[in-house]
Amino acid sequence: MSETFPIDGSRDALWMQTAVAAPKTETLSTAEDCEVAIVGAGLTGLNAALLLAKAGKSVCVLDAKSIGFGASGRSGGQVNLGLNLGPAALIEKFGLDQGERMIDAVVNTPDRVFTLINKHELRCDAVQAGWIQGAINKRVSAEQKSLAAEYAQHGCELELLDKASMRHRTGTNLYSSGLLSPSAGFLQPLSYTRELARVAQENGAKIFTYSLVEQLVKDRDRWLLKTANGTVRCNKVLLCGNGYTDNLQKGLAETVVPVRSILMATAPLSTELRQSVLPKQVSFVDKRRLILYFRYDRDGRLCAGYHGPMRDSFRLQDYVLLKEKVTAIFPQLKDCIWERHWGGRIAITKNALPFIGEPLPGVISCMGYNGRGVGMGTLMGQAAAQHALGMENSDIAFPICEPSRFMLHRFHALGVNASIRWFELQEYVDSLQRS
Ligand SMILES: Cc1cc2nc3c(=O)[nH]c(=O)nc-3n(C[C@H](O)[C@H](O)[C@H](O)COP(=O)(O)OP(=O)(O)OC[C@H]3O[C@@H](n4cnc5c(N)ncnc54)[C@H](O)[C@@H]3O)c2cc1C
Repeated sequence: MSETFPIDGSRDALWMQTAVAAPKTETLSTAEDCEVAIVGAGLTGLNAALLLAKAGKSVCVLDAKSIGFGASGRSGGQVNLGLNLGPAALIEKFGLDQGERMIDAVVNTPDRVFTLINKHELRCDAVQAGWIQGAINKRVSAEQKSLAAEYAQHGCELELLDKASMRHRTGTNLYSSGLLSPSAGFLQPLSYTRELARVAQENGAKIFTYSLVEQLVKDRDRWLLKTANGTVRCNKVLLCGNGYTDNLQKGLAETVVPVRSILMATAPLSTELRQSVLPKQVSFVDKRRLILYFRYDRDGRLCAGYHGPMRDSFRLQDYVLLKEKVTAIFPQLKDCIWERHWGGRIAITKNALPFIGEPLPGVISCMGYNGRGVGMGTLMGQAAAQHALGMENSDIAFPICEPSRFMLHRFHALGVNASIRWFELQEYVDSLQRS
Protein backbone atom coordinates (compact mmCIF):
# COMPACT_ATOMS: atom_id res chain seq x y z
CA MET A 1 0.00 0.00 0.00
CA SER A 2 1.49 3.38 -0.97
CA GLU A 3 2.20 6.01 1.69
CA THR A 4 -0.39 8.37 0.27
CA PHE A 5 -3.14 5.92 -0.70
CA PRO A 6 -6.04 6.67 1.65
CA ILE A 7 -7.09 3.85 3.92
CA ASP A 8 -10.85 3.38 4.12
CA GLY A 9 -11.72 2.65 7.77
CA SER A 10 -14.45 0.17 6.84
CA ARG A 11 -13.51 -1.39 3.50
CA ASP A 12 -9.89 -2.08 4.49
CA ALA A 13 -10.73 -3.72 7.83
CA LEU A 14 -9.30 -7.20 8.26
CA TRP A 15 -12.77 -8.33 9.23
CA MET A 16 -14.05 -7.71 5.69
CA GLN A 17 -11.65 -10.42 4.53
CA THR A 18 -12.60 -13.07 7.09
CA ALA A 19 -16.27 -12.43 7.93
CA VAL A 20 -19.23 -14.69 7.25
CA ALA A 21 -21.48 -13.43 4.46
CA ALA A 22 -24.03 -10.76 5.32
CA PRO A 23 -27.69 -11.76 5.10
CA LYS A 24 -29.59 -10.41 2.11
CA THR A 25 -31.05 -6.96 2.56
CA GLU A 26 -32.66 -4.34 0.35
CA THR A 27 -32.74 -0.58 0.16
CA LEU A 28 -35.99 0.88 1.46
CA SER A 29 -38.26 1.74 -1.47
CA THR A 30 -41.69 1.08 0.09
CA ALA A 31 -44.00 2.55 2.75
CA GLU A 32 -43.48 0.32 5.79
CA ASP A 33 -45.52 0.23 8.98
CA CYS A 34 -44.16 -1.33 12.15
CA GLU A 35 -44.16 -1.04 15.92
CA VAL A 36 -40.49 -0.12 16.34
CA ALA A 37 -38.09 1.42 13.83
CA ILE A 38 -34.37 1.28 14.56
CA VAL A 39 -31.81 3.63 13.01
CA GLY A 40 -28.40 1.92 12.82
CA ALA A 41 -27.57 -1.68 11.90
CA GLY A 42 -24.66 -2.01 14.29
CA LEU A 43 -24.64 -4.35 17.21
CA THR A 44 -26.70 -1.99 19.41
CA GLY A 45 -29.52 -1.67 16.87
CA LEU A 46 -29.42 -5.37 15.96
CA ASN A 47 -29.41 -6.59 19.57
CA ALA A 48 -32.43 -4.38 20.16
CA ALA A 49 -34.06 -5.68 16.96
CA LEU A 50 -33.50 -9.29 17.97
CA LEU A 51 -34.99 -8.84 21.44
CA LEU A 52 -38.00 -6.93 20.08
CA ALA A 53 -38.62 -9.39 17.25
CA LYS A 54 -38.46 -12.28 19.70
CA ALA A 55 -40.98 -10.43 21.89
CA GLY A 56 -43.35 -10.46 18.91
CA LYS A 57 -42.95 -6.83 17.82
CA SER A 58 -42.75 -5.81 14.19
CA VAL A 59 -39.38 -4.14 13.62
CA CYS A 60 -37.65 -2.27 10.78
CA VAL A 61 -33.90 -1.57 11.00
CA LEU A 62 -32.43 1.05 8.68
CA ASP A 63 -28.78 1.79 8.02
CA ALA A 64 -27.26 4.48 5.83
CA LYS A 65 -24.67 1.95 4.65
CA SER A 66 -24.18 -1.80 5.13
CA ILE A 67 -24.69 -4.02 8.19
CA GLY A 68 -21.79 -3.30 10.56
CA PHE A 69 -20.55 -0.37 8.49
CA GLY A 70 -20.00 1.70 11.68
CA ALA A 71 -17.73 0.79 14.57
CA SER A 72 -19.37 -2.65 14.93
CA GLY A 73 -17.72 -4.02 11.80
CA ARG A 74 -14.31 -2.47 12.48
CA SER A 75 -13.67 -2.82 16.20
CA GLY A 76 -11.01 -4.80 18.02
CA GLY A 77 -13.75 -7.27 18.93
CA GLN A 78 -12.66 -7.44 22.56
CA VAL A 79 -15.52 -8.44 24.81
CA ASN A 80 -14.59 -6.67 28.02
CA LEU A 81 -16.05 -6.52 31.43
CA GLY A 82 -16.89 -3.21 32.89
CA LEU A 83 -17.26 0.44 32.25
CA ASN A 84 -14.82 3.25 32.58
CA LEU A 85 -16.22 3.84 36.07
CA GLY A 86 -15.75 1.21 38.77
CA PRO A 87 -18.47 -0.11 41.12
CA ALA A 88 -17.96 2.50 43.87
CA ALA A 89 -18.25 5.38 41.41
CA LEU A 90 -21.42 3.86 39.89
CA ILE A 91 -23.08 3.55 43.31
CA GLU A 92 -22.07 7.10 44.20
CA LYS A 93 -23.56 8.40 40.95
CA PHE A 94 -26.74 6.32 40.70
CA GLY A 95 -27.47 5.33 44.31
CA LEU A 96 -27.32 1.85 45.83
CA ASP A 97 -30.25 0.12 44.08
CA GLN A 98 -29.68 1.37 40.56
CA GLY A 99 -25.89 1.25 40.98
CA GLU A 100 -26.02 -2.42 42.00
CA ARG A 101 -28.32 -3.30 39.09
CA MET A 102 -25.81 -1.71 36.74
CA ILE A 103 -22.82 -3.41 38.33
CA ASP A 104 -24.56 -6.76 38.19
CA ALA A 105 -25.31 -6.31 34.48
CA VAL A 106 -21.88 -4.99 33.68
CA VAL A 107 -19.94 -7.80 35.38
CA ASN A 108 -22.05 -10.33 33.50
CA THR A 109 -21.56 -8.62 30.14
CA PRO A 110 -18.99 -11.05 28.67
CA ASP A 111 -21.11 -14.05 29.70
CA ARG A 112 -24.18 -12.35 28.22
CA VAL A 113 -22.39 -12.00 24.86
CA PHE A 114 -20.94 -15.52 24.78
CA THR A 115 -24.24 -17.05 25.92
CA LEU A 116 -26.07 -15.20 23.14
CA ILE A 117 -23.51 -16.46 20.63
CA ASN A 118 -23.91 -20.05 21.80
CA LYS A 119 -27.70 -19.87 22.01
CA HIS A 120 -28.11 -18.62 18.44
CA GLU A 121 -25.04 -20.40 17.08
CA LEU A 122 -23.61 -17.14 15.79
CA ARG A 123 -20.57 -17.94 13.63
CA CYS A 124 -18.13 -15.27 14.79
CA ASP A 125 -14.88 -16.97 15.91
CA ALA A 126 -15.63 -16.25 19.56
CA VAL A 127 -12.91 -17.08 22.10
CA GLN A 128 -13.52 -16.66 25.84
CA ALA A 129 -9.91 -16.87 27.04
CA GLY A 130 -9.77 -13.79 29.28
CA TRP A 131 -8.58 -10.21 29.07
CA ILE A 132 -5.45 -8.82 30.66
CA GLN A 133 -4.69 -5.23 31.46
CA GLY A 134 -0.96 -4.59 31.89
CA ALA A 135 0.30 -1.97 34.34
CA ILE A 136 3.35 -0.11 33.23
CA ASN A 137 3.84 1.87 36.45
CA LYS A 138 2.95 2.00 40.15
CA ARG A 139 0.02 4.36 39.61
CA VAL A 140 -1.79 1.85 37.37
CA SER A 141 -0.84 -1.08 39.67
CA ALA A 142 -2.46 0.73 42.61
CA GLU A 143 -5.58 1.49 40.54
CA GLN A 144 -5.84 -2.18 39.57
CA LYS A 145 -5.59 -3.34 43.19
CA SER A 146 -8.40 -1.08 44.34
CA LEU A 147 -10.56 -1.94 41.32
CA ALA A 148 -10.12 -5.68 41.98
CA ALA A 149 -11.12 -5.12 45.62
CA GLU A 150 -14.20 -3.14 44.56
CA TYR A 151 -15.35 -5.79 42.08
CA ALA A 152 -14.70 -8.57 44.63
CA GLN A 153 -17.27 -6.92 46.91
CA HIS A 154 -19.80 -7.51 44.12
CA GLY A 155 -18.89 -11.15 43.61
CA CYS A 156 -16.72 -10.58 40.56
CA GLU A 157 -13.23 -12.02 40.88
CA LEU A 158 -10.54 -10.22 38.94
CA GLU A 159 -7.11 -11.81 39.33
CA LEU A 160 -4.12 -9.64 40.15
CA LEU A 161 -1.03 -10.83 38.29
CA ASP A 162 2.55 -10.25 39.39
CA LYS A 163 5.48 -9.52 37.10
CA ALA A 164 6.39 -13.19 36.57
CA SER A 165 2.81 -14.11 35.75
CA MET A 166 2.56 -11.19 33.35
CA ARG A 167 5.73 -12.35 31.58
CA HIS A 168 4.34 -15.88 31.33
CA ARG A 169 1.01 -14.73 29.89
CA THR A 170 2.08 -11.88 27.64
CA GLY A 171 5.62 -12.79 26.59
CA THR A 172 7.16 -9.52 27.77
CA ASN A 173 8.95 -8.43 30.90
CA LEU A 174 7.70 -4.88 30.66
CA TYR A 175 4.74 -5.01 33.04
CA SER A 176 5.18 -4.79 36.78
CA SER A 177 1.69 -6.19 37.36
CA GLY A 178 -1.61 -6.84 35.65
CA LEU A 179 -5.29 -7.54 36.03
CA LEU A 180 -6.94 -10.62 34.52
CA SER A 181 -10.65 -10.73 33.77
CA PRO A 182 -11.22 -14.45 33.10
CA SER A 183 -14.74 -14.18 31.64
CA ALA A 184 -13.73 -11.75 28.87
CA GLY A 185 -12.63 -12.68 25.37
CA PHE A 186 -12.85 -11.67 21.74
CA LEU A 187 -14.76 -12.32 18.54
CA GLN A 188 -14.83 -11.43 14.86
CA PRO A 189 -16.83 -8.20 15.15
CA LEU A 190 -18.19 -7.99 11.61
CA SER A 191 -19.27 -11.64 11.72
CA TYR A 192 -20.93 -11.06 15.09
CA THR A 193 -22.88 -8.11 13.69
CA ARG A 194 -23.87 -9.88 10.47
CA GLU A 195 -24.94 -12.95 12.41
CA LEU A 196 -27.07 -10.84 14.74
CA ALA A 197 -28.72 -9.42 11.61
CA ARG A 198 -29.34 -12.91 10.25
CA VAL A 199 -30.99 -14.10 13.47
CA ALA A 200 -33.00 -10.88 13.83
CA GLN A 201 -34.29 -11.41 10.28
CA GLU A 202 -35.10 -15.05 11.01
CA ASN A 203 -37.20 -13.78 13.91
CA GLY A 204 -39.11 -11.41 11.67
CA ALA A 205 -37.16 -8.12 11.71
CA LYS A 206 -36.85 -6.30 8.39
CA ILE A 207 -33.45 -4.78 7.67
CA PHE A 208 -32.87 -2.09 5.06
CA THR A 209 -29.34 -1.08 4.05
CA TYR A 210 -28.14 1.93 2.04
CA SER A 211 -31.20 3.65 3.50
CA LEU A 212 -30.11 6.87 5.15
CA VAL A 213 -32.88 8.18 7.40
CA GLU A 214 -33.07 11.83 6.36
CA GLN A 215 -36.05 12.93 8.44
CA LEU A 216 -37.81 11.91 11.60
CA VAL A 217 -41.17 13.66 12.01
CA LYS A 218 -44.23 13.33 14.20
CA ASP A 219 -47.18 11.67 12.47
CA ARG A 220 -50.18 12.28 14.81
CA ASP A 221 -49.38 10.00 17.75
CA ARG A 222 -46.85 7.98 15.73
CA TRP A 223 -43.47 8.64 14.07
CA LEU A 224 -42.53 8.82 10.41
CA LEU A 225 -39.02 8.13 9.12
CA LYS A 226 -38.18 9.23 5.61
CA THR A 227 -35.40 7.99 3.35
CA ALA A 228 -34.74 9.05 -0.24
CA ASN A 229 -37.06 6.34 -1.62
CA GLY A 230 -39.32 5.17 1.18
CA THR A 231 -40.94 5.71 4.56
CA VAL A 232 -41.45 3.84 7.83
CA ARG A 233 -44.38 4.65 10.12
CA CYS A 234 -43.95 3.39 13.66
CA ASN A 235 -44.94 3.79 17.30
CA LYS A 236 -41.41 3.96 18.69
CA VAL A 237 -37.98 4.80 17.32
CA LEU A 238 -34.57 3.68 18.57
CA LEU A 239 -31.62 5.82 17.54
CA CYS A 240 -28.45 3.70 17.57
CA GLY A 241 -25.93 5.72 15.54
CA ASN A 242 -23.27 5.93 18.28
CA GLY A 243 -20.14 7.63 16.85
CA TYR A 244 -21.87 7.93 13.46
CA THR A 245 -24.83 9.88 14.84
CA ASP A 246 -25.81 12.67 12.44
CA ASN A 247 -28.29 15.56 12.74
CA LEU A 248 -31.41 13.41 12.40
CA GLN A 249 -32.42 14.20 15.98
CA LYS A 250 -31.55 17.73 17.04
CA GLY A 251 -28.93 17.86 19.80
CA LEU A 252 -28.14 14.13 19.85
CA ALA A 253 -24.82 14.39 17.99
CA GLU A 254 -23.64 16.86 20.66
CA THR A 255 -23.90 14.18 23.36
CA VAL A 256 -20.91 12.27 21.93
CA VAL A 257 -17.51 13.18 20.55
CA PRO A 258 -16.36 10.81 17.79
CA VAL A 259 -12.73 9.98 18.57
CA ARG A 260 -10.89 7.77 16.06
CA SER A 261 -9.24 4.49 16.92
CA ILE A 262 -6.95 2.74 14.44
CA LEU A 263 -6.11 -0.93 14.10
CA MET A 264 -3.61 -2.93 12.10
CA ALA A 265 -3.06 -6.66 11.60
CA THR A 266 -0.04 -8.77 10.70
CA ALA A 267 0.03 -11.61 8.24
CA PRO A 268 -0.53 -14.93 10.11
CA LEU A 269 2.44 -15.20 12.50
CA SER A 270 4.75 -18.22 12.70
CA THR A 271 4.07 -20.70 15.51
CA GLU A 272 7.28 -19.56 17.15
CA LEU A 273 6.19 -15.92 17.23
CA ARG A 274 2.72 -16.85 18.43
CA GLN A 275 4.27 -18.72 21.33
CA SER A 276 6.33 -15.70 22.32
CA VAL A 277 3.68 -12.95 21.94
CA LEU A 278 0.47 -13.33 23.98
CA PRO A 279 0.82 -17.13 23.95
CA LYS A 280 -2.39 -17.69 25.90
CA GLN A 281 -4.78 -16.15 23.33
CA VAL A 282 -5.88 -13.50 25.78
CA SER A 283 -6.94 -10.09 24.62
CA PHE A 284 -4.54 -7.58 26.04
CA VAL A 285 -4.54 -3.90 26.89
CA ASP A 286 -1.53 -1.82 27.84
CA LYS A 287 -3.06 0.61 30.33
CA ARG A 288 -1.33 3.91 29.78
CA ARG A 289 -3.03 7.27 29.55
CA LEU A 290 -3.58 6.37 25.88
CA ILE A 291 -4.54 2.75 25.57
CA LEU A 292 -2.81 0.21 23.30
CA TYR A 293 -4.75 -3.00 22.65
CA PHE A 294 -3.96 -6.41 21.12
CA ARG A 295 -5.60 -9.66 20.12
CA TYR A 296 -5.18 -12.50 17.60
CA ASP A 297 -7.63 -13.41 14.88
CA ARG A 298 -8.62 -17.02 14.16
CA ASP A 299 -5.70 -17.45 11.70
CA GLY A 300 -2.99 -16.17 14.03
CA ARG A 301 -2.81 -12.61 12.74
CA LEU A 302 -1.93 -10.23 15.56
CA CYS A 303 -4.10 -7.11 15.67
CA ALA A 304 -2.93 -3.98 17.48
CA GLY A 305 -4.86 -0.76 18.06
CA TYR A 306 -4.31 2.78 19.31
CA HIS A 307 -5.88 6.23 19.05
CA GLY A 308 -5.92 7.71 15.55
CA PRO A 309 -6.15 11.07 13.80
CA MET A 310 -9.41 13.05 13.74
CA ARG A 311 -10.58 12.01 10.27
CA ASP A 312 -12.34 8.99 8.71
CA SER A 313 -9.79 8.25 6.01
CA PHE A 314 -6.34 7.16 7.20
CA ARG A 315 -2.81 7.00 5.75
CA LEU A 316 0.02 4.55 6.44
CA GLN A 317 1.83 7.41 8.15
CA ASP A 318 -0.88 7.39 10.84
CA TYR A 319 0.30 3.92 11.95
CA VAL A 320 4.02 4.68 12.38
CA LEU A 321 3.72 5.57 16.08
CA LEU A 322 1.59 2.49 16.76
CA LYS A 323 4.19 0.26 15.06
CA GLU A 324 6.95 1.83 17.17
CA LYS A 325 4.94 1.27 20.35
CA VAL A 326 4.21 -2.35 19.45
CA THR A 327 7.86 -3.17 18.78
CA ALA A 328 8.90 -1.43 22.01
CA ILE A 329 6.70 -3.96 23.84
CA PHE A 330 7.37 -6.97 21.59
CA PRO A 331 10.77 -6.44 19.88
CA GLN A 332 10.42 -9.88 18.26
CA LEU A 333 7.78 -8.31 15.95
CA LYS A 334 10.15 -5.75 14.45
CA ASP A 335 10.39 -7.49 11.07
CA CYS A 336 6.82 -8.68 10.80
CA ILE A 337 4.60 -7.47 8.00
CA TRP A 338 1.54 -5.44 8.92
CA GLU A 339 -0.86 -6.37 6.14
CA ARG A 340 -4.07 -4.57 7.05
CA HIS A 341 -4.77 -1.08 8.36
CA TRP A 342 -8.13 0.40 9.25
CA GLY A 343 -10.02 2.36 11.91
CA GLY A 344 -13.25 4.04 12.91
CA ARG A 345 -15.12 6.21 15.38
CA ILE A 346 -15.44 5.66 19.10
CA ALA A 347 -18.20 7.64 20.82
CA ILE A 348 -16.95 9.42 23.92
CA THR A 349 -19.45 10.90 26.38
CA LYS A 350 -18.99 13.67 28.89
CA ASN A 351 -19.22 11.41 31.96
CA ALA A 352 -17.44 8.44 30.28
CA LEU A 353 -20.62 6.33 30.56
CA PRO A 354 -23.03 5.11 27.85
CA PHE A 355 -26.62 6.26 28.11
CA ILE A 356 -30.18 5.51 27.10
CA GLY A 357 -32.09 8.75 26.58
CA GLU A 358 -35.56 9.70 25.41
CA PRO A 359 -35.15 13.04 23.63
CA LEU A 360 -38.82 12.98 22.58
CA PRO A 361 -41.67 10.75 23.79
CA GLY A 362 -41.29 7.42 21.99
CA VAL A 363 -37.83 8.27 20.57
CA ILE A 364 -35.13 6.39 22.47
CA SER A 365 -31.40 6.96 21.95
CA CYS A 366 -28.79 4.44 23.05
CA MET A 367 -25.07 5.08 22.68
CA GLY A 368 -21.79 6.38 24.04
CA TYR A 369 -19.73 3.27 24.83
CA ASN A 370 -16.38 5.04 25.15
CA GLY A 371 -14.61 2.18 23.34
CA ARG A 372 -16.37 -0.68 25.14
CA GLY A 373 -19.30 -1.22 22.86
CA VAL A 374 -18.93 -4.89 21.93
CA GLY A 375 -20.09 -6.01 25.35
CA MET A 376 -21.87 -2.83 26.40
CA GLY A 377 -23.62 -2.34 23.03
CA THR A 378 -25.04 -5.84 23.40
CA LEU A 379 -26.26 -5.11 26.93
CA MET A 380 -27.52 -1.60 26.17
CA GLY A 381 -29.19 -2.54 22.89
CA GLN A 382 -31.17 -5.12 24.81
CA ALA A 383 -31.94 -2.59 27.57
CA ALA A 384 -33.12 0.00 25.01
CA ALA A 385 -35.45 -2.65 23.56
CA GLN A 386 -36.81 -3.30 27.07
CA HIS A 387 -37.58 0.41 27.39
CA ALA A 388 -39.33 0.30 24.01
CA LEU A 389 -41.41 -2.60 25.33
CA GLY A 390 -42.55 -0.35 28.17
CA MET A 391 -40.78 -2.11 31.03
CA GLU A 392 -40.26 -0.10 34.23
CA ASN A 393 -37.01 1.86 34.60
CA SER A 394 -36.38 0.03 37.86
CA ASP A 395 -36.46 -3.38 36.09
CA ILE A 396 -33.85 -2.43 33.50
CA ALA A 397 -30.09 -2.31 34.09
CA PHE A 398 -29.74 1.12 32.52
CA PRO A 399 -32.54 3.63 33.18
CA ILE A 400 -33.59 6.40 30.82
CA CYS A 401 -31.53 9.47 31.63
CA GLU A 402 -30.78 12.88 30.20
CA PRO A 403 -27.31 12.80 28.57
CA SER A 404 -25.04 15.82 28.94
CA ARG A 405 -24.05 17.69 25.81
CA PHE A 406 -20.56 18.90 25.01
CA MET A 407 -20.39 22.68 24.87
CA LEU A 408 -18.73 24.07 21.72
CA HIS A 409 -19.20 20.65 20.13
CA ARG A 410 -18.31 21.91 16.66
CA PHE A 411 -14.77 22.50 17.89
CA HIS A 412 -14.46 18.94 19.21
CA ALA A 413 -11.51 18.02 16.97
CA LEU A 414 -9.44 20.79 18.57
CA GLY A 415 -10.44 19.60 22.04
CA VAL A 416 -9.57 15.96 21.26
CA ASN A 417 -6.19 16.89 19.80
CA ALA A 418 -5.38 19.02 22.85
CA SER A 419 -6.41 16.14 25.18
CA ILE A 420 -4.22 13.69 23.29
CA ARG A 421 -1.18 16.01 23.58
CA TRP A 422 -1.94 16.36 27.30
CA PHE A 423 -2.12 12.58 27.79
CA GLU A 424 1.15 12.16 25.86
CA LEU A 425 2.81 14.64 28.19
CA GLN A 426 1.45 12.77 31.22
CA GLU A 427 2.70 9.48 29.77
CA TYR A 428 6.14 10.99 29.47
CA VAL A 429 6.01 12.09 33.12
CA ASP A 430 4.79 8.59 34.08
CA SER A 431 7.71 7.02 32.21
CA LEU A 432 10.15 8.98 34.41
CA GLN A 433 8.52 7.46 37.52
CA ARG A 434 8.26 3.89 36.21
CA SER A 435 8.73 1.15 38.75
C1 LIG B 1 -11.23 0.86 15.74
C2 LIG B 1 -12.18 0.53 16.85
C3 LIG B 1 -11.85 -0.45 17.77
C4 LIG B 1 -12.76 -0.78 18.79
N1 LIG B 1 -12.46 -1.83 19.61
C5 LIG B 1 -13.36 -2.22 20.54
C6 LIG B 1 -13.11 -3.37 21.32
O1 LIG B 1 -12.11 -4.07 21.14
N2 LIG B 1 -14.03 -3.71 22.27
C7 LIG B 1 -15.16 -2.97 22.48
O2 LIG B 1 -15.95 -3.31 23.36
N3 LIG B 1 -15.45 -1.90 21.71
C8 LIG B 1 -14.58 -1.51 20.74
N4 LIG B 1 -14.87 -0.46 19.94
C9 LIG B 1 -16.16 0.23 20.13
C10 LIG B 1 -17.32 -0.57 19.51
O3 LIG B 1 -16.97 -1.02 18.25
C11 LIG B 1 -18.56 0.32 19.41
O4 LIG B 1 -18.84 0.88 20.67
C12 LIG B 1 -19.79 -0.44 18.96
O5 LIG B 1 -19.52 -1.20 17.81
C13 LIG B 1 -20.93 0.52 18.69
O6 LIG B 1 -21.97 -0.17 18.06
P1 LIG B 1 -23.28 0.60 17.62
O7 LIG B 1 -24.16 -0.39 17.00
O8 LIG B 1 -23.78 1.37 18.76
O9 LIG B 1 -22.78 1.69 16.57
P2 LIG B 1 -22.15 1.50 15.12
O10 LIG B 1 -21.65 0.13 14.91
O11 LIG B 1 -21.17 2.61 14.94
O12 LIG B 1 -23.38 1.67 14.14
C14 LIG B 1 -24.04 2.89 13.95
C15 LIG B 1 -24.72 2.80 12.60
O13 LIG B 1 -25.68 3.86 12.52
C16 LIG B 1 -25.82 4.19 11.15
N5 LIG B 1 -26.45 5.50 11.06
C17 LIG B 1 -26.14 6.65 11.70
N6 LIG B 1 -27.01 7.62 11.34
C18 LIG B 1 -27.91 7.08 10.48
C19 LIG B 1 -29.04 7.58 9.75
N7 LIG B 1 -29.44 8.86 9.86
N8 LIG B 1 -29.73 6.73 8.95
C20 LIG B 1 -29.36 5.42 8.83
N9 LIG B 1 -28.28 4.91 9.49
C21 LIG B 1 -27.57 5.73 10.29
C22 LIG B 1 -24.36 4.17 10.66
O14 LIG B 1 -24.30 4.00 9.24
C23 LIG B 1 -23.77 2.98 11.43
O15 LIG B 1 -23.73 1.80 10.65
C24 LIG B 1 -14.00 -0.10 18.91
C25 LIG B 1 -14.34 0.89 17.98
C26 LIG B 1 -13.44 1.20 16.96
C27 LIG B 1 -13.82 2.25 15.95
